[in-house]
Amino acid sequence: MEKRYIYADHAATTAVSDEVLQEMLPYFQEDFGNPSSIYAKGRENERAIINARERVAKCLNADAKEIYFTAGGSESDNWAIKGVADKLASKGKKHIITSVFEHHAVLHTCEFLEKHGFEVTYLPVSPEGLVNPEDVEQAIRPDTALVTIMYANNEIGTIQPISEIGAICKKHGVLFHTDAVQAIGNIEIDVKAQNIDLLSLSGHKFHAPKGIGALYIRKGIQIPNLIHGGSQEFGKRAGTENVPAIMGLAKAIELATTNIPEKIEKLTPLRNKLIDGILKIEQTKLNGDREKRLAGNVNISIVGIEGESLLLMLDYYGIQASSGSACTSGSLDPSHVLLSLGLVHEVAHGSLRISFGEEFTEQDVDYILEVLPQIVDRLRAMSPMWETLTKENKKLV
Ligand SMILES: *Cc1c(COP(=O)(O)O)cnc(C)c1O
Repeated sequence: MEKRYIYADHAATTAVSDEVLQEMLPYFQEDFGNPSSIYAKGRENERAIINARERVAKCLNADAKEIYFTAGGSESDNWAIKGVADKLASKGKKHIITSVFEHHAVLHTCEFLEKHGFEVTYLPVSPEGLVNPEDVEQAIRPDTALVTIMYANNEIGTIQPISEIGAICKKHGVLFHTDAVQAIGNIEIDVKAQNIDLLSLSGHKFHAPKGIGALYIRKGIQIPNLIHGGSQEFGKRAGTENVPAIMGLAKAIELATTNIPEKIEKLTPLRNKLIDGILKIEQTKLNGDREKRLAGNVNISIVGIEGESLLLMLDYYGIQASSGSACTSGSLDPSHVLLSLGLVHEVAHGSLRISFGEEFTEQDVDYILEVLPQIVDRLRAMSPMWETLTKENKKLV
């Protein structure tokens, strides 16, 4: 078998594409002026940013004035949630609704607010990894300031009923934020039609560089400044703009959103073949709904193995993937996302996330399906837990 190199961790980050790099390059050395300067070199940069803002807005069906450039998904999430909380607290609204399986940029921000007098409802998710819109509606109170529910989960790829939740929030006059970092380029988004008031996105998940993102804030919503200083980003986020990265973001989001149906059509059969192939290994379980999931996400628990050992072995075979297990995330607990689905610790520990993009091929699927079962056999042969389970003829999934 010929060794292949497969980067299957798109949910973690992606490479900057050639087109994006070309878009950025002039702004490092030729057009390096400060967008706030009065001479031509400055104003060219100002115009470039105006142009980038329009291009990003268009991809979301937003207006340019509603797009604020940030340093990424975490910053956008922090700003959206703390900003709305701060603004509405003065009107006596100190309640926030979110879900238990959000990204830590959302969860830890909510926990921070709890220490500052806010109350947070953490909605459960179904065993398939979906938030129930009725739960959102029932949790809304007169003092609810914000609902924040992610568009697509970063570990299990499940796509949440964002339009339904948007409609419910609108009906009850509650602001709605969504962390759409994993959704951009994979799902068509229309902030107006879907009643989304605030939306976070991050460039490095769709071939723009790391450290650039955006927050969409619907017109009419006033939230406090993130960074005080100069008048950049409509006076809300001070600091000289990262012009090359902003230009890269604009190019990347255009490229990522032009052919979404074609991407879904290409990747879905590959995803399904991969899922079916891996599930042929005994004692394995697909995490997350089979249909309502990103076309480029596979997440499977494999009983009797440690996620970290699996990743190291896969890496040896040229496959870069991820796991929701202990050591990779630097903590002793398995992923909060997998636990939220009701998985027991032993099952959550042996999980594998394979996330891929447009360049993924059938040959990649076949290679993974050839390599993975052999690795699992070897790891299980060394696993005391697997030995015990086999002796007792016990099945965990
Ligand atoms: C990656 C990710 C983030 C964080 O984005 P950064 O730009 O790395 O800060 C937030 N939310 C989700 C769902 C993500 O996948």
